[in-house]
Amino acid sequence: MPQPGPSGRPRRFFIETWGCQMNELDTQRMSGQLMQQGMLPTRSPEAADVLLLNSCSVRENAQNKVYSRIGEYRVLKEEREVLIGLCGCVAQQEGEAALARAPELDFVLGPARVGELAEVLARRRAGERVVATGFPKERRFEIDAISRDGAYKGMVTCIEGCDKRCTFCIVPTTRGAERCRPMAEIVAEVEHLVDYGFREIELLGQTINHWREPGGSEDFSHLLDRVARVPGVERLRFITSYPRDFTDRMIEVFATHDAICPYLHLPVQSGSNPVLRRMGRGYTVESYRDLVGRIRAARPDVVFSTDLIVGFPGETEEQFRETLDLVEAVRYGSLYGFKYSPRPGTAAPRLDGAVPVEVANRRLNELFAVQTEIQRELNRALVGETMDVIVTGWGKEPEFQTGRTPCHRMVNFDAGADPAEPGSIVPVSIESSYPHSLVGRRTDPAPAAHPALRVLASS
Ligand code: SAM
Repeated sequence: MPQPGPSGRPRRFFIETWGCQMNELDTQRMSGQLMQQGMLPTRSPEAADVLLLNSCSVRENAQNKVYSRIGEYRVLKEEREVLIGLCGCVAQQEGEAALARAPELDFVLGPARVGELAEVLARRRAGERVVATGFPKERRFEIDAISRDGAYKGMVTCIEGCDKRCTFCIVPTTRGAERCRPMAEIVAEVEHLVDYGFREIELLGQTINHWREPGGSEDFSHLLDRVARVPGVERLRFITSYPRDFTDRMIEVFATHDAICPYLHLPVQSGSNPVLRRMGRGYTVESYRDLVGRIRAARPDVVFSTDLIVGFPGETEEQFRETLDLVEAVRYGSLYGFKYSPRPGTAAPRLDGAVPVEVANRRLNELFAVQTEIQRELNRALVGETMDVIVTGWGKEPEFQTGRTPCHRMVNFDAGADPAEPGSIVPVSIESSYPHSLVGRRTDPAPAAHPALRVLASS
């Protein structure tokens, strides 16, 4: 039952989320805990009694955005009692300093302390401005308090934190050392999600393919194989893979199971060996290309995506051209490009050769222009094909729905007068294309929804 607050109406909460899938899942965990406390979600910050900002600190811009949002929410506190909490990676990075910088903040909750939200709120109501950061030794992955968002994809944490020491990256500071979750626990959560009605499962970790059974000998190839065998898992994805940790056995498993989507996010960061060395990535362009080739040979339908940083300290024009060459050679299905942003506590800001911001901007635009042409060609080649699309929601035009192909391309499709439930998988004939999406028409009548989805739809 919703619990009334001081005004007599149920207390409400609003969570704003930035950043990666780990943050998305943390938001679902915080929502679940608040609902267990009898609070209701609201889509409007103005109506909320508790406002949480689940932040990202991978680049300085993302960090600045969260502080400016806290400033915008300040006025709400002038009207009534509202608690504002800073969560996520900026919370871990800033700790006490965040309370000093933003007097309207009530508490700071780091990503490894998400499970303690209810207790932190109680302490705040008793008068304490709480800072809950750091990395407790015993980490629980409670699955009984996750408010699963959406109908189509269930996310499962497998490994938290990161032990790599990439010179640009703040993640080891904000998410701590690597901690793997036991296989039995992961499989039990996947089974629960399938029962609940999810057909797509996404395994999460900063370096997912570095997963190891705690105290055991199994590695990520065993975990992937085991999860792919769970009855009812129709689409399996995992993110993010570290190139150096991708083994032959993982390639074999990736190529064996139809349930594993032919999509692989494999961040390369640069196409130049001297830059990769300065980034501390631990592989060369040649070994990366060799890996891509071996994965393609084993699974020819695979579509790769990647992350790239331009303007890393010391990056010359020629080294940037090598990145463009790599992009042309691999022909990624999608690409996330970033301008290098110096982060506190990382090694790269001490490197020589800062790249002027205008040069970095120009390189980023050039990179996107090259990639857009590649995507235009790859997507055009799909026109005329019929693809299985998992329905993710409703489109902007009447009778249109949105979805994703197995290789993760976004599709807008005409569903006629008989739309399918989100989470269903339907055949769509592709009729036209853009660089960032496909357009099509469903070829079959809407399939019967999964029994669990029918319950959701009628409730
Ligand atoms: N653990 C993954 C890896 O290293 O492959 C991804 C970590 S990060 C959350 C996602 C992406 O943000 C990175 O792959 C990188 O391209 C980008 N990134 C991280 N630190 C950055 C920085 N200081 N400046 C610009 N981009 C950055």
